[in-house]
Amino acid sequence: MNYDLLFEPVKIGPVTAPNRFFSVPHANGHSPLMPNGSVMMREMKAEGGWGTVSMQLAEIDPGSDISNLPIEKFWDEQDVKSHARLTERLRARGALSAIEIGHTGLRSRGMANGFPVLGPSNLSTLKPGIPVQCKAMDKADIRDLRKSYRDAIRRSKQAGYDITYVYAAHDASILWHFLSPVYNRRTDEYGGSFENRLRLFREVLEEAQDEAAGEIAIAVRFAVHELSGPKAITCDGEGRDVVEALAEIPDLWDVNVSGWNRDSGTSRFDPEGFQEEFTSFVKTVTTKPVVGVGRFTSPDAMVSQIRRGVLDLIGGARPSIADPFLPNKIREGRIEDIRECIGCNICAASDANSLPLRCTQNPTVSEEWRRGWHPENVPAARSQKHALVVGSGPAGLEAALTLARAGHRVTVAEKADVFGGRVARECLLPGLSAWGRVRDYRLYQLQQLSNVDLYAQSLLTASDIAAFEADHVFVATGSTWERQGRGHTSYEPIAGFQDTAMTPDDVMAGKPIAGPVIIYDDDHYYMGHVLALKMVREGHAVTLVSPLSDIATWTNYTLEQPRVVAELHQAGVGLMPNTFAQKCSGNRLEIARSDTKEELQSLAFGTLIHIGLRDPDLALYNALPEGVSSTLIGDALAPGLIQAAVFSGHKAAMEFETAPGERVHNREAPILFV
Ligand code: ADP
Ligand code: SF4
Repeated sequence: MNYDLLFEPVKIGPVTAPNRFFSVPHANGHSPLMPNGSVMMREMKAEGGWGTVSMQLAEIDPGSDISNLPIEKFWDEQDVKSHARLTERLRARGALSAIEIGHTGLRSRGMANGFPVLGPSNLSTLKPGIPVQCKAMDKADIRDLRKSYRDAIRRSKQAGYDITYVYAAHDASILWHFLSPVYNRRTDEYGGSFENRLRLFREVLEEAQDEAAGEIAIAVRFAVHELSGPKAITCDGEGRDVVEALAEIPDLWDVNVSGWNRDSGTSRFDPEGFQEEFTSFVKTVTTKPVVGVGRFTSPDAMVSQIRRGVLDLIGGARPSIADPFLPNKIREGRIEDIRECIGCNICAASDANSLPLRCTQNPTVSEEWRRGWHPENVPAARSQKHALVVGSGPAGLEAALTLARAGHRVTVAEKADVFGGRVARECLLPGLSAWGRVRDYRLYQLQQLSNVDLYAQSLLTASDIAAFEADHVFVATGSTWERQGRGHTSYEPIAGFQDTAMTPDDVMAGKPIAGPVIIYDDDHYYMGHVLALKMVREGHAVTLVSPLSDIATWTNYTLEQPRVVAELHQAGVGLMPNTFAQKCSGNRLEIARSDTKEELQSLAFGTLIHIGLRDPDLALYNALPEGVSSTLIGDALAPGLIQAAVFSGHKAAMEFETAPGERVHNREAPILFV
């Protein structure tokens, strides 16, 4: 396939994107307090060939207040300086820069800045767990808001942006809140009929174009279809009506689905290109260029989107995080080198926890400035050494690849028949096949290198290792699920578990299961519910018991929890949150409420699966004779996310040959004014 089409320039109003790769606005956890990391994270994308690179949602004034989330600020002249640095750096790399400005309206919390939350009507905020209600905006508020937008457009010109977005996507924009009949209960000229509800959006957009004065492009980010929330805006209803009504006003349409949890659907639920059925009408309604997302990592899928007239520009948030060099790799015909996003949303979870992005596939993201890491280039070895890596899970493979790229001679020994460690096993579980990319990318890269030897079916003992005489050993032997009942809420064993319970390792090894199945999930991420689905598909009755008050707690952060719970419910899995296991006697699990400790009716099982803590596999490491130079990495160091194992492998390899004092660890520095 010829991919030249992807490298054609695209005119966007007064500016021209050098190619069709468009890194759309995405939350990145840096916040304005970490401008250096934020600038370099984006500059890396421009270096990697993304023709347009966007800043995340930036609040136009302090009245837009998503307290405690690391959102960008664009309130006044003070913010211009760091944004100007970003646009300079992107321009120097030949990329266009874009900023997404917005007011978060009903999504605000109003706690950080002390202004009332503003909305079209006096409703609760869209975070029902936060006891805040908003002020219905009066005419003066609407005038002030329009002025704030104008001022922000002016600042975006001062900062040197090429494109400024008027944000009306998801359910996080005040323009969206005015548009939706669910949130807009007004009876004046800004409420009621479609034209009235659209009025503020239209005014802001027209004034943005007026302020832009043809010097910069104005884009709109608009969610044409609600897949979660009240579902009042749909692509065959008012979502389409909006695009028709405003069709030619913006210079660029960036279209997606709402809410953010559906826009950033994970690979468990949504395949590549999943938004097409909702957004494909847009190009039939406007002559302006259209950009959209869909976790695109396949150049064939990208070309197909353009050839079939679905999109003009290929939007990428997660694909540009997982591989900032995706465009350059396509241009150079290095398709096999693309580090494809696995659709796990650890990146989103980082932002939700106010952390600079972490990524399962790209351990260097957010470390471009802080540690000086580059996603493609590894500094050359000071002196070539022979490194032995024991274990080929995510930590071992990443360490081996990074060491090999530095120029060391690398031997990888894996006791199993296949490479990949936990990823090789877990990617066979329901919905997790894309996670196999963590292994596939690294293994393929290692296989291309002449300084790497890979051995499967190679169980190494401590004496084997001593006899091997490598200069250094990286021990990546992973971890094993415990069965004694300890977990994230209980550090003590549970009576009867050790003799009775099965573990995820047993299930993945294919041990026979007898129903009914109880899964006691004291891990609270994916393993519990993914095994529940596997058991259901194999014909068993399943009950998932969680000592926490909700199911799969961490999936709140990966934006998956509502869909996880719905999927379990639809599959017929019995859900028992707020329930802890007291003991296991025979084939009965004795349980009680977690909060009051009130005993509940015991549950009978054919198989009890315990998902709790993991034991780091340290036997080999502890048995290494003195004199064997070694580093422990990955789950053997500290069991955790696959992302953490990859990161650990990368970090150990990058720090090999350096003393702690030599390692870069830049800190962002708040300025002291008093
Ligand atoms: P991590 O997540 O830290 O990369 P994994 O559990 O995914 O860890 O992978 C650890 C790998 O190490 C497994 O594939 C396991 O078979 C392998 N392994 C463990 N002990 C040895 C050993 N003594 N010799 C060779 N391979 C080993
Ligand atoms: Fe993709 Fe996961 Fe990386 Fe996010 S964390 S960019 S979803 S691989």
